[in-house]
Amino acid sequence: MKRLLISASALLLTAASIIFVAPAYSFLPLLTSSKPDHWSLAAFSVQWNLNPSTKGAKISGDRTVAEVMQASFNTWTSAPNTDLAITRGTDSNANKESSAPSTMNLICFVCTDVSFGGDETLAITVTTTADSAGESDGHGGTAQFAGQIIRADIAFNSGVQFDTGGGSGQDLQTVATHEIGHFFGLDHSAITRAIMYPFAPDQLTTLSYDDVAGISSLYPKSTPDVATGSISGKVTLNGSAVFGAHVFANPTTSATPLSNVRKTPIGTLTLPDGTYTITGLPPDSYDVLAEPLDLPVSDSDVSWASEFNKSSVQTNFTSRWH
Ligand SMILES: [Zn+2]
Repeated sequence: MKRLLISASALLLTAASIIFVAPAYSFLPLLTSSKPDHWSLAAFSVQWNLNPSTKGAKISGDRTVAEVMQASFNTWTSAPNTDLAITRGTDSNANKESSAPSTMNLICFVCTDVSFGGDETLAITVTTTADSAGESDGHGGTAQFAGQIIRADIAFNSGVQFDTGGGSGQDLQTVATHEIGHFFGLDHSAITRAIMYPFAPDQLTTLSYDDVAGISSLYPKSTPDVATGSISGKVTLNGSAVFGAHVFANPTTSATPLSNVRKTPIGTLTLPDGTYTITGLPPDSYDVLAEPLDLPVSDSDVSWASEFNKSSVQTNFTSRWH
C-alpha cells in the first residue's frame, strides 16, 4: 500500500510580492504506475465518517461542520459528466488518523497524530492506494487494480480559525472542497481559479472547468451531460521532448456550456516523452499554451516528477502559444 499525504496551504504573501504570472492550468490525477488513482465504486460503498468533535479546534459560524462537509461532498458528486456517489457513514470518535479503522474514511478536526508544521497548512488528506490488484482492500475484499484508492482521511488543522458561514476566519467549505478533490484522487492544479489550486483563497466553493475535467475523467458518466473533446500534442525544445511542461487549453469564446461551473482553462503536464492530452474540453474554441511549472505553482506542489521517477519537471524554456 502507498500512503500519500497532501496538504493545502495558506499562501502568505505581503502585498508587494503578490505576483500572479501568466495563469497556469491543469487538472492532474495522482498516479500509481502511471495510471490515475481512483476509487472503485463497484468494489464497496464509499462513505465518509465524521468525528464531530471540535473540542480544542477554532471553529466559528452558523453551520455545523457536518453540514459543511455534506455540502462540500455534494459539490463533487453533482459535477457535470460525473458519476460519483458517496454517503455519510456512521460518526466516529477516532482522534488518531493512523489508527482509525480501515473501513472508515475519517474527517477529523481533533486528530493528534497529524503534523501540520504550523498554521500555513490548513488541512491534510491522507490517501491509501493499492500497489497491485489482489491485495487486501481493507473492506474484506481485494483490490481490483493498482492505484485503487481504498481509504482516505482528511484532518483539519486545529490551530487554524475556520468559519462555517457568517463569521470570520478561513472559510471551511473552501478548504473542505479542495481536500475532497484529493480524497477522490486529484492532485494540485496550477489553474489559479481551480478548487485544486494549492493555495486557498478566502472563499471559493464551486468547481472550475479544470476541476470538472479532472473529476469526470476519473468517474465518467456513461451518458455525458455535455459532450467533450480532447486536444493532444507534443512539447519539444530544440528537438528534445520536454517533461512536465504545463500545457493548457484556454477557451476563447463567451459560451458557457457547463452551468454553475467557473470557466477556466483546462490543462495538464506533459509526459516523459513530451506528449500530452487535455481531455474533458466542452464545446468552445481554444488557444493552447505551454509554459514552465515555475511559480506560483511549482514542482514541490505536485507529485508529477516523482510519479515518473524524475527528480524534477523541466522549466528551462519560455511560454509558447500554438
Ligand atoms: Zn491540496
